[in-house]
Amino acid sequence: MKTFLFLLALLPATAMAADATKNPQFVAGRAALEQALDRPQPGRHARNIILFIGDGMGINSVTAGRIFAGQARGLDGASYKLSFETLPFGGFSKTYSADKLVTDSANGISAIMTGVKTINAAIGVDDTVRTKDCQSALSARIETLAEQAKRSGRAAGVVTTAGITDATPAGAYGHVPFRGWRADADLPPDAVKAGCVDLARQLVEAPDAVRMDLAFGGDLQDFVPVGTGPGKRADGRDLTKTWLARPGARYVTDAGALSSLAPRGGPVLGLFASGDLPSPVDTDLHKNVPTLVEMTSKAIDILAAKKTGYFLLVESASIDKWHHANNAYRALTDVDELSKAVRAAMDKTDPNDTLIIVTADHSHGLVISAGSSREEPITGLVRNHGVNLPDGNGNPRTTLSYATGPGGPRDGVARPIPDEAAATSPDYRQPALVYMESAQHAGEDVPVYSRGPDSDLLTGTFESSYIYQVMAHAFSPADGPRLAKPVKTHRRRHAHGR
Ligand SMILES: [Zn+2]
Repeated sequence: MKTFLFLLALLPATAMAADATKNPQFVAGRAALEQALDRPQPGRHARNIILFIGDGMGINSVTAGRIFAGQARGLDGASYKLSFETLPFGGFSKTYSADKLVTDSANGISAIMTGVKTINAAIGVDDTVRTKDCQSALSARIETLAEQAKRSGRAAGVVTTAGITDATPAGAYGHVPFRGWRADADLPPDAVKAGCVDLARQLVEAPDAVRMDLAFGGDLQDFVPVGTGPGKRADGRDLTKTWLARPGARYVTDAGALSSLAPRGGPVLGLFASGDLPSPVDTDLHKNVPTLVEMTSKAIDILAAKKTGYFLLVESASIDKWHHANNAYRALTDVDELSKAVRAAMDKTDPNDTLIIVTADHSHGLVISAGSSREEPITGLVRNHGVNLPDGNGNPRTTLSYATGPGGPRDGVARPIPDEAAATSPDYRQPALVYMESAQHAGEDVPVYSRGPDSDLLTGTFESSYIYQVMAHAFSPADGPRLAKPVKTHRRRHAHGR
């Protein structure tokens, strides 16, 4: 780039058909370069780490998500920037699991939180585990980065728009050979006999030394007994009472109560729905349910109030949930929600002491096809300034489509041909090549965006499990995975440990 600029400067102006240096894109590019050249080298000690997971957010979801978010604001979508696209460092994570080419969310998060890939559907255990085999899980158990952070004296929390016992949030605190073991009724009798307990109990009953200080999400049903609202616990336990039995503990169930929580220490549990939280697109369902940005902001305030340094895992889960349904409108809405939550974290923290990482556990099979002019809605038909550019059969086609999912042709029945109003409606399912009740995850590498201490180590292409190494190093440059006690002072820089 520098050589190119140098040569450009040597050319006589008359030899140029146009003066590129005055082009606004060129000027913006030059400013971006100046900013990159002035970028300070990140430090080597993180007081805090915030790990954001856009579940199922492949690079295709980021591109489509930025276009969607820009257009939703009446701006040019293609050149719009999501908050995390402004983070200075980026790399690619290889997400495959110990046994599969394409990972699920369980191994996806487990690899990041423990440094070891496991088999699909397993969490917080190494690759010797056998699926649904309790005994094998007990010997394969590995402490997560969140638990290690707790053990080193820091605070730790987890926030999600899914249920709090879903695979990704369970990656902070859970150890199971099968992600479906969410409440006691989900465990087979032999697993109970062998000593395994469900994820809801693992979250609430973990020893003080490693228990999460804060957990916000859905899945109320896994915490309360049958006969109590949506409760599905067969053991009669009310885990919200167990949680509240600890000194200073708090429990909230709606957005109003969350917003009035004082930012002080003491464990906080927030269960805002039975199952996953609804999409913010569904405003009537979303009444009094906090948004991801509200949960993230409150979590940071509470964890920061402990003054010990903290680890926080934040998942925008619904990107994945709605991709599974081929519903691009709601999936991309949740990319935007993630962007807002990351913005809040960027505004609330200091890049000198807080490592922020934004990545995905795996991708989804979304494709952005060519043809549409820049102003055409990303969820709509392929159109050039309002004029349809049809498929090879002469029918309208959509810009977005999926490899697999419920939008596929079922039993040879062709999908109805969409019009622009149908395609841009929030409920539209984009077409899929292969019919499946639920879209399959996709296996290409996912992007990793970061800023703060050690973020320069998250460049290039690396294993998903390497992200753990960088986080552990940022918390403890000299000791690596054996996490050191948090330093008391802000902005203290350590020499690189090894
Ligand atoms: Zn999924």
